[in-house]
Amino acid sequence: MAGPVVRQFGGARRRLIEELQQKGISDIAVLKAFDDVPRHLFVPTGVRHRAYEDAPLPIGHGQTISQPWVHAKYLELLALKPTDRVLEIGTGSGFQSALLTRLAGQVFSIERIPDLAREAHAALGACGITTVVQRVGDGTLGWPEFAPYDAILVGAASPDVPQPLVDQLAPGGQLLIPVGGREEQVLLRLRRTPTGVERTRLDAMRFVPLIGQHGFEA
Ligand code: SAM
Repeated sequence: MAGPVVRQFGGARRRLIEELQQKGISDIAVLKAFDDVPRHLFVPTGVRHRAYEDAPLPIGHGQTISQPWVHAKYLELLALKPTDRVLEIGTGSGFQSALLTRLAGQVFSIERIPDLAREAHAALGACGITTVVQRVGDGTLGWPEFAPYDAILVGAASPDVPQPLVDQLAPGGQLLIPVGGREEQVLLRLRRTPTGVERTRLDAMRFVPLIGQHGFEA
């Protein structure tokens, strides 16, 4: 990625990467992805000066770009391979979609709010990323046409694990999803094993709700 706008905020970006390391992120590929992707292009201009704070920021329509540490944690947990096929639910700003292109082979992303999907597409284009396959729709149904996936990342809170997402996991595939109430959730990791699906409870999280057929009501 080149160009003067893309290269702005280099010092702030490096400080964010140091902060992520201090907070326990050690996967070099993940940290390199944060160095590659200009987060300031994925936030509204009014909060651009705050783009490299380790904080969620408003992106309009009552939604947020997630905290960088949360994105980093998801990516570190998944330990993606360059051949992996990944499905992201909740494109939002498109920032995590961009990070995913640095770590995985194919990236599919679903967003329910058309304006956000359009803006994410524009931001990805502004940093020269044209490989994310995007769709507007209800991500709780997954995207069966391109299944199975080596990893599915849900960037919004669900009352339970949507079964279509579990069904669309490849052998050995992993699903990361925050499950709980609208206010607080626990991050769950589900992994398809030869004998079934293994479920692990991870960190406490706070996400905006996943709205859809297998999520919360609007
Ligand atoms: N990783 C994104 C980012 O940092 O920009 C996360 C954005 S936000 C925390 C979660 C997104 O999930 C919102 O944009 C919201 O509109 C979207 N969302 C909620 N329910 C959805 C659903 N059923 N299908 C697809 N997207 C959904």
